[in-house]
Amino acid sequence: MTEVKNEKMNRVTVHLDEKPIYDIVMTEDFSALPGEIEKLSISNRRLCIVTDSNVEKLYLNEVKELLAPCCKTVISFVFPAGEEHKNLDTVRDLYETLILNHFDRNDMLAALGGGVVGDLCGFAAATYLRGVAFMQIPTTLLSQVDSSIGGKTGVDFDAYKNMVGAFHMPKLVFTNINTLQTLPDNQFSAGMGEVIKHGLIKDAAYYEWLLENAADIWARKPEALRKTVTWSNEIKRAVVEKDPTEKGDRMLLNFGHTLGHAIEKLKNFTMLHGHCVAVGALAAMNICKERGLVNQDEINAYRALMEYFSIPTSVSGLDPEEVIAATKNDKKMEAGVIKFILLDRVGHAYIDRTVTKEEMERALAAIFR
Ligand code: NAD
Ligand code: MG
Repeated sequence: MTEVKNEKMNRVTVHLDEKPIYDIVMTEDFSALPGEIEKLSISNRRLCIVTDSNVEKLYLNEVKELLAPCCKTVISFVFPAGEEHKNLDTVRDLYETLILNHFDRNDMLAALGGGVVGDLCGFAAATYLRGVAFMQIPTTLLSQVDSSIGGKTGVDFDAYKNMVGAFHMPKLVFTNINTLQTLPDNQFSAGMGEVIKHGLIKDAAYYEWLLENAADIWARKPEALRKTVTWSNEIKRAVVEKDPTEKGDRMLLNFGHTLGHAIEKLKNFTMLHGHCVAVGALAAMNICKERGLVNQDEINAYRALMEYFSIPTSVSGLDPEEVIAATKNDKKMEAGVIKFILLDRVGHAYIDRTVTKEEMERALAAIFR
C-alpha cells in the first residue's frame, strides 16, 4: 500500500459493487459538516442527533448549532454512556422519540459518539420505518478507525454482544480527529489495540510507521493522529469494499478476536474490547511463532508496543479451559470449525481452520499470569 499523505482534510469514498456509497471525511474541527450535509440534499429533513451522556456535554451543542440551519428541525436523543445501554430498551426509547417527533422515511439520524452510539443509532436507522438514512460522527479512536466504517450495526441482547443487528450503510462518516483530545487515556489505549491490529494484518509499512511514531501518537500530536486515522481508514475501507458482508477478507479484521472475545466475556466486559483483542493477538502470535511464521523478536516488538500504549500484555484470574470453551460460542465458528486468523508474516493475515486445542492452550499460557 502506498503511504498516506498528510493533509488537513482527507476524503475517501467507500464503494460497493463499484458504486460510490458514502464518503469518509476526516478533518480537525466540525466546520465542514454543514457543507457535507448539504451535499446529501437533506435540507428539508428532520435530523435526530443520537449521542451519549458524556459526548453530549462535550460536543452536542456545537454540532446541533452547526446543523440547525441545514435541516427542517434538529432534535437530539441522549442516553447514558456505556455498553450496558447498547440494548433494545434504549432503541425502544429512541423509536418513541422519533415517532413523537413525526420522523418519516425521508428523515435522518446522526450518531455522535463512539462505537456504542454508532452501533445503536445505526441499528435504529436500519429498522425504523424499515430503514432511514443515518450518518456517523465518530468521536473515539476505535469508532474513527473501525466501527463507523462498514455498515455493521447492532445492539446487545442480555449477555450476548451484538446479537441483534443489521447491515446498514451510513450516508456519511464525518471524523473530527480533534475530538480525540478529550478521550480518556484508557479509551485511547483500547483504540490503539485495533490500530496496531490493522498494521499487523494488512500493512507492514504501517506497522513499522506505528513502531517509529509511537511517541507522537501517544502524545496525540495532530499530525500523528491524522496519519493514523487516515491510514487505518484506508485499510478498513479496502477490506469492507472487498467483502461487505464478512464472507471472506473482512474476517481478517477478527485477528485476536477469537481468544480476545472469549476473554472479554469471561472478564464480564470489565476489560476494554481493544485491550482484549490486543492480548488475543499476542496469543495468536505465539501460535504463529510455533508454526515458524513469525519470530520471537517480532513478538517482543509487538509486546513492547502494547506496553508503550498502556495495553495490558497479560490476563489473570481466568481458567484457560474456560476460555477455550468460550471460543466455541464465537460467531467465527462455521459448522463446528473455528476460523482462526493467523499471520503468515507481520503485515499479512490469513484464515486458518487447523488451530488445535493444544495450540490454543500453549498460546494462552503465554499471556496468562
Ligand atoms: P464507547 O462508544 O462506549 O465510547 C467509550 C467511552 O468514551 C464512552 O464513555 C463515551 O461516552 C466516551 N467518549 C466518546 N467520545 C469521547 C470523546 N471524544 N471525549 C471523551 N469521551 C468520549 O466505546 P467505543 O470503544 O467507541 O466503541 C465500542 C463499541 O463499538 C462496542 O459496543 C463494540 O461492539 C462496537 N464496535 C462495533 C464495530 C462495528 O463494525 N460496528 C466494530 C468495532 C466495535
Ligand atoms: Mg474489534
